[in-house]
Amino acid sequence: MAARDFEMLAQDVRDCRICEDHLPFGPRPIFQAHPDARVLIVGQAPGRRVHESGKPFNDPSGVRLRNWLGMDEETFYDARSVALLPMGFCFPGTGSSGDLPPRPECAAEWRGPLLEHLGNIRLTLVLGRYAMAWHVPEARGTLVDIIGQWRERAPKLFVTPHPSPRNQRWLKSNPWFEDETVPALRKAVARALRQG
Ligand code: SF4
Repeated sequence: MAARDFEMLAQDVRDCRICEDHLPFGPRPIFQAHPDARVLIVGQAPGRRVHESGKPFNDPSGVRLRNWLGMDEETFYDARSVALLPMGFCFPGTGSSGDLPPRPECAAEWRGPLLEHLGNIRLTLVLGRYAMAWHVPEARGTLVDIIGQWRERAPKLFVTPHPSPRNQRWLKSNPWFEDETVPALRKAVARALRQG
């Protein structure tokens, strides 16, 4: 029954057109989820390339993300292992300084009901500030401060920068992230996936 409820909900999301008036390329909700998933990855919203392919993280950000996780593509795209629920499910278009923020209607409408079905999550990975505002509302300080406090939340939750190539400079000036946080994240992911 719960699985059927989840499938009905997932279909409602796929059919959603709530904010279509604000989406320059139209609605195309892109996400991956299953009630058995053990790792939850929360990104921002699909970019243009993902909008076209329909496959989440099928871009340079995804390559870096899978490297951070120590995860191959087969595991990453197995919905029974990994849930990919960005803060907005449709490509919001681009502005003068890159992709626009995720549409706020999306999380307000769908996030709570979907997360209710994901009762097996052992580790949540929060990518960037939009995801953080929802999943770590108590966090105070800059995003860098909060990423640096990873030991306080590990191994159940990690906040990282978005793996976008746009953040290359940030990664270069904060080498501790790939030296210390990423190895701990890989270990926590492997453990979460081993758990039933
Ligand atoms: S962004 Fe979310 S709320 Fe808006 S149309 Fe897509 S699925 Fe619906």
